[in-house]
Amino acid sequence: MLLLCVLAGCARPAAAPVVREPLPTPPRWYVILDAGHGGFDAGASGVDTGVKESELNLQVALLVQAALEDAGARVLMTRTDGGALGDTKRADMARRGQLLLTEGADAAVSIHMNKFSDRRVRGPMAYYQAGAAAGQALATCVIDSLTEALSLKSRLANPGNNFVTRVPACPAVLVECGFLSHAEEERLLQDEAYQKAIAHAIARGILAFLEG
Ligand SMILES: [Zn+2]
Repeated sequence: MLLLCVLAGCARPAAAPVVREPLPTPPRWYVILDAGHGGFDAGASGVDTGVKESELNLQVALLVQAALEDAGARVLMTRTDGGALGDTKRADMARRGQLLLTEGADAAVSIHMNKFSDRRVRGPMAYYQAGAAAGQALATCVIDSLTEALSLKSRLANPGNNFVTRVPACPAVLVECGFLSHAEEERLLQDEAYQKAIAHAIARGILAFLEG
C-alpha cells in the first residue's frame, strides 16, 4: 500500500528546502586606481582636438573601477572628479603619494595617455618601476591583455622611474592607454566603446596578475 501510495505521488510532501542567504564574502582584492593629472594639471593634450589627457584618464579609470568592482574587487580611486588633489603640483603629488601607500592594497594602477613628436607612433604601453619584479609581472599582464584586446602585436612592458610606480608598497603599473599625437588613436581614445574595451582589458590584466 505504501509503495502504491508513493508511486501515486501521495507521499507526504517533502519539507520546503531551507534557503540560506549566502554569507557576504569580503572582497578578495584591493586595488588603488589613479587617474593621472587633474585640475590645473591637464597633462598632455590632443594634437587635433585639444582634448585634455586628465579628462580621458578619469573616464577610463572610472570604467576600470566599474569592471573591477563587478569582479568583486574593492577599489580606491585617487580622484573621482576633474579636480586636482591639491592646489599645487607639490601638494597634489603629496596627497597622491599618501593614497598610493594605502595599507592592504594588492596593486596600484595609474592611468595616462601618451604623446610623442612622431605622429605615427601608437598603441598602449605599460611601465613598471625598474628593478621591481612584481611590478614587471603586473605590467606584463596588463600590456598582454591590452594588446590581445586591441589585436596588436604583443609588446613588452617597459621599465621606468615614475612617482606612481616608485611610491606604492604594492606592485604598481603606469598604463599609457594610447597616443594623443596619433590622429586615429586621439579620436578612438574619446570613443566610449573604445574606452570600455581598453578599461576592461586593463581590469582583466590586473585580475590575471592577482589571480595568477
Ligand atoms: Zn600623463
